[in-house]
Amino acid sequence: MPSSPTGPPLRWRLALALVVAYFASAACSLALGRALPDMPPLYWLPAGIATASFLIFGRVGGALVFGCSLLADGLLYGQGGPPGNWGIGQLPVALAATLQAGLAARAWRERERQHRRRFLQRSTELGYFWLRICLLPPLFCLPLLFAVLTMLRFVIPSLPATNLNQLPYLVLAHTLGTLLLAPCLVAWRDRAEWSWRWPPRRKWWSALAVPGVLLLALMLHGNALVLLLPVLLAVTVHYYWPGAMIAMLLVAVTLSAATLAGFGPFAAQVIAMRHVDLQLFLFSVGIMLQYLALGQEQLLRARRDLQRTVSERTRELQHANARLAEMATTDELTGLNNRREWQRRGAETMMLARRNGEPISLLMLDLDHFKSVNDNHGHLVGDLVLRAVSQACLATLRTTDNLGRWGGEEFVVMLPDTPLIEAARVAEKLRSNVAAAQVPDGDNDPITVTISIGVTTLRPADSDLDDLIKRADDALYAAKRAGRNRVVIDAEPLGTD
Ligand code: GH3
Ligand code: MG
Ligand code: MG
Repeated sequence: MPSSPTGPPLRWRLALALVVAYFASAACSLALGRALPDMPPLYWLPAGIATASFLIFGRVGGALVFGCSLLADGLLYGQGGPPGNWGIGQLPVALAATLQAGLAARAWRERERQHRRRFLQRSTELGYFWLRICLLPPLFCLPLLFAVLTMLRFVIPSLPATNLNQLPYLVLAHTLGTLLLAPCLVAWRDRAEWSWRWPPRRKWWSALAVPGVLLLALMLHGNALVLLLPVLLAVTVHYYWPGAMIAMLLVAVTLSAATLAGFGPFAAQVIAMRHVDLQLFLFSVGIMLQYLALGQEQLLRARRDLQRTVSERTRELQHANARLAEMATTDELTGLNNRREWQRRGAETMMLARRNGEPISLLMLDLDHFKSVNDNHGHLVGDLVLRAVSQACLATLRTTDNLGRWGGEEFVVMLPDTPLIEAARVAEKLRSNVAAAQVPDGDNDPITVTISIGVTTLRPADSDLDDLIKRADDALYAAKRAGRNRVVIDAEPLGTD
């Protein structure tokens, strides 16, 4: 693995963290995880670390597990279990631990391959987790280990005898260890998803307070343990999977330590029952919390997916609405206001002008002999000409003027705050600018067109926009009749009606 200049690469740090976790969890299981001093621990947490190690590092993780187990597992098996003295007897113990973790990791991977997604994201996967990953690997490996150790004793008689009575307890301890610790790997794997669920105002202390509450309750009254259930439920609902797993781990450790110290309901039981009852309690609470936590998480994920879909749809809809609004108001060819939009704005301008007593004028434009442009150069070139004319008009007019395409090769202009004389001047400028514009036509000579314009202005008697349009149209036809390429003014003076 390449080393980075800023320090050891993360994978090394992770490997080191796993080794430390292996030894720490082994020490914790042995020191605090016992219900009875002469029994194996209730849970063997390194089993979970070993599975995580395999899942993270593959074969290298296997080597890591083997090494750690060679050194650490002797602590466990040396105390009442099969012979665990460091020596030849330790070798099969480490091999069994590696095989067990390898089998668990393989089952995990198989499931991910089958479903093509990360494992343990749905509550329906928990059955597979409990059975194939937590229970079956130790159920297969530990009896095998006991058999090998028994046979080894024939070869090396100095090895201590295996205690078959402890086999079921060991299987349960390994199962519980994976059940309690492997979910932490899931929380770590999905940490990016969790970040948004851990806003700073949510304090870790409430999850960490669980063992405190528990210890206090156990010291005051052993059966107060039942009070723990609502607390655990609340932590799970509030903190989802990571919270539930941490709380469960803390409960397992605290409860076993308390029992060993003589507190709590389990301490009062007949010695032989302590172990089984404590394990049963931890199994049932652990399973319940995991089921609830994954269910919660599934709900959250579904809600997040729904929110994402809704916001995507909303964005698409807004986009489509904007596009529709544009299509409803704009002429596609020229980009000018279409007739409807022009009329809407024109009516508004007219109303305002009336109220403020300001003059407004209206121009009606029509291209001269445009049919022959289409006939001689084709409709596509005709379209280019229409665009060029609209651009020439836009360049001539003020931004406050309202230019629109009336239809075909006809345009209208509303000139706010413009009297008739001024409007006639604007019309003349439009006529001469359009006549000067040249539209390129490939290798042929550029095309030039002319326009005829009718001009009118608002009169007190005009009831609506149509009155203005009619007069401008009449003036336009007068211009056509007079020979085209000219401006004709509706010369009737203002205020004569
Ligand atoms: P006049 O000087 O009398 O106005 O003659 P004109 O040929 O311009 O008038 P006419 O009404 O005979 O023909 C108008 C032409 O405009 C016919 C039509 O094909 C063409 N036209 C209308 N809309 C479009 C368009 O969007 N693109 C193209 N290329 N041509 C159009
Ligand atoms: Mg026309
Ligand atoms: Mg025309």
